[in-house]
Amino acid sequence: MFNLSKEQAERARRIHESSLVVDTHNDTILHIIKTPPFITSVSNPLPPRRTLGERSEHGQIDIPRIREGGVKCLLFAMYVDPQYTARLRRLVQMMDAFHSELARYPEQVSLVTSYREIMKAVKDGKIAVMITIEGGEPLEGSVEALRAMYRLGARSLTLTHFPRNELGDGSGADSGSHLTEFGKHVVQEMNRLGMIVDISHLNQTGFWDVLELTKDPVLATHSNCKALCSHHRNLTDDQIKALAEKGGVMNLSFCAGFIKDGIGFGDPEAVKKVTIHDWLDHLDHAVELVGTNHVGIGSDLDGGCGFPDLHDVTKFPHLTEGMVARGYSDSDIKKVLGANNLRVFKKVLS
Ligand SMILES: [Zn+2]
Repeated sequence: MFNLSKEQAERARRIHESSLVVDTHNDTILHIIKTPPFITSVSNPLPPRRTLGERSEHGQIDIPRIREGGVKCLLFAMYVDPQYTARLRRLVQMMDAFHSELARYPEQVSLVTSYREIMKAVKDGKIAVMITIEGGEPLEGSVEALRAMYRLGARSLTLTHFPRNELGDGSGADSGSHLTEFGKHVVQEMNRLGMIVDISHLNQTGFWDVLELTKDPVLATHSNCKALCSHHRNLTDDQIKALAEKGGVMNLSFCAGFIKDGIGFGDPEAVKKVTIHDWLDHLDHAVELVGTNHVGIGSDLDGGCGFPDLHDVTKFPHLTEGMVARGYSDSDIKKVLGANNLRVFKKVLS
């Protein structure tokens, strides 16, 4: 894949194993929850039900594969399709299913809500698991729902998904609108609680509103560079610079459609045209803009993303090999692998 010398390959292995590797986005709960109703369609059928603990032939993330990929801390997103009419109830079902699943593997995983808990979990040899909510839809306009979810362990919220919701416009339905009053209230409440604001999926006007409003650094948990791929989900150079100036981190996804122009979502043939070199081009571009302190990894595996070189979580060591091949220093590689996100977790999560 990279033609590394024996020494370089050994160096990559050493860096990867000694790093606290963080992945800021996956949709694995959608493959685990067994509680109906399920919103499916012909083009988006229900994937096979899996568990976190058993290695599966299907999907992209489970405990054995997380171990093999050397990933130590993962953000698991709870995503409620907007077609659910009882949105908050669906989120409650997901939170219940996820907590129940974690409880089956107490020796392997640890739910974390703070920087200290992350460090303890990793020290104890466990996978640190953080809960995030993807899209403000299930809050149903209630800040009490946000606080209740915080109390159930959620430590981040992606303000929107593709459509508009009670907080503002998603980039897929961008009318140029600002954050709503409720959206602003949520950002302020998240700052107060110590929750990480995630600007992935948000429209541009909303993004600038968040940066003006937030006291804490924010994350883009799964977004790529618009300069290299024009998809509306990606961030412009100005957005990447502003995110960095606030101390935040842009986490690059493995979504083929956000890496290369002209790749449709869920088109298995087109996905084969994307390689890890294309992903590394996004990394190089972001680093050229803002240096190595503000870039990380947010795979979006089990969320319709991945491509042959990075088709599941076991492939994370390839990222380290790629960074070695492109001449990054040990300390810069460690920052991208996890240290940058850990800096934000330490600052924001109280
Ligand atoms: Zn997403």
